[in-house]
Amino acid sequence: MTKKVKTAITPTREEDYPEWYQQVVKAADMAERSPVRGCMVIKPWGYTLWENIQREMDAMFKATGVKNAYFPLFIPLSFLEKEAEHVEGFAKECAVVTHHRLEKGPEGGLVPGGKLTEPLVVRPTSETIIGESFSRWVNSYRDLPLLINQWANVVRWEMRTRIFLRTSEFLWQEGHTAHSTAQEAVTRTRLMLDVYARMAEEFLALPVIRGSKSAAERFPGAVDTQCIEAMMQDRKALQAGTSHFLGQNFAKASNIRFQTTEETEEFAWTTSWGASTRLIGGLIMTHGDDDGLAMPPRVTPVHVVLLPIIHKPEDRQAVMDYCDSLARTLREKMYHQRQMVVEIDDRDIGGARGWEWIKKGVPLRIEIGPRDIAKDALFVARRDKSHRDKTTIARQQFIDQVGPILDEIQVALFQKALSYRETHTHLIDDKGAFYDFFTPRNTTKPEIHGGFALSHWCGNASCEAKIKEDLTVTIRCLPFDAPQEDGRCICCGAPSNSRVVFAKAY
Ligand SMILES: [Zn+2]
Repeated sequence: MTKKVKTAITPTREEDYPEWYQQVVKAADMAERSPVRGCMVIKPWGYTLWENIQREMDAMFKATGVKNAYFPLFIPLSFLEKEAEHVEGFAKECAVVTHHRLEKGPEGGLVPGGKLTEPLVVRPTSETIIGESFSRWVNSYRDLPLLINQWANVVRWEMRTRIFLRTSEFLWQEGHTAHSTAQEAVTRTRLMLDVYARMAEEFLALPVIRGSKSAAERFPGAVDTQCIEAMMQDRKALQAGTSHFLGQNFAKASNIRFQTTEETEEFAWTTSWGASTRLIGGLIMTHGDDDGLAMPPRVTPVHVVLLPIIHKPEDRQAVMDYCDSLARTLREKMYHQRQMVVEIDDRDIGGARGWEWIKKGVPLRIEIGPRDIAKDALFVARRDKSHRDKTTIARQQFIDQVGPILDEIQVALFQKALSYRETHTHLIDDKGAFYDFFTPRNTTKPEIHGGFALSHWCGNASCEAKIKEDLTVTIRCLPFDAPQEDGRCICCGAPSNSRVVFAKAY
């Protein structure tokens, strides 16, 4: 039996992945459960990450002409009833406000009073209330396209919750656009999906597959739902962003009409698209290891942490002066249009100090003691490498190279995630092999068990439903880049001309 390596996180990913995830969130001090069931408190380390994600995405949206606005938290019940599929899709998870004040109860305490004549729904998504505004803002073809985004919280009542992945309240952005032609709306749907893919790949270092959902997995009321799907380290898929072409369904429901150049009246073509704090869950599950989180440099709250090593009180001043000066120099540098963030942690708590920063995932840790100062050199550790793997770099050289080093870490995280996905993605054409691939069991070869199966599907909803029922495996997407090839449906054997991505999912 091999000696068990001590890890900062217990249990390890291999031992208990869901519990490992909770422990990483806790150890990195990102968020915690709140007294309100199913809701989370996002702590500064998690919220700063969200702000960084927000800032980058917001800039990308605006570069495509989108403008930000804000709409009410409450939606009149009658609005939600306007689009039949939409109400069907969200009805089971709506929080509903029925009263507007509190009164003294007959036995003391407070009870709801002032019953509302029409209940208000706390937004699960805002198509209907934004649609009402659009119906007033759009009159002529000259008012189109209308490109609006809002940053907000939404509520979808969840019985089984997991921090960042599935919570009753979460933070997100939702974009809503209206267009004069179907083609323009379709183009916009794809454009925004590409923004999400860029956010995921270039900033979060999450390799994603872009594609369309099957009809069964579509957003309620959408004509086409496009998505990006990433593989987590338990080989399950995580949907990391969606963009919907809504056709004229919501325009008809909300009465968004415009006068055309020929002076006829037509319903607008609309889209909606969203990404949420779920991205943080995806980042943790992709880059975390048995020592905690690893932050991609382009979104990390802190790029570099300086750890002064002070054994004798008389060394303190010199070490702190050296650290302060280095921090000042580094903070003047830019890393991808963002001022470099450097922290000095001089807490006297022994080895726990370094481990805290490992668990938080900060990309670069630098230990600085009197001997390093004498050599004018830095003892540097990278989060993408083993915690024992530290190198000495001359101070000036480090200052010159810190940007490229951070880029290397960014690329290394992406490559590691990509090779993990490739290792666990298989072309499967045999039904028995497909069922084996997704059936949990004791196996001598766990490395070829579970992941993404690229298999043929005939397009029939009943085959999709059968696989979901038998294996809890769903079609994650019909990839845009799937080559045309003849094959047979993995379920019924009927002809198919391209493969889809099957996986278990969050
Ligand atoms: Zn079939």
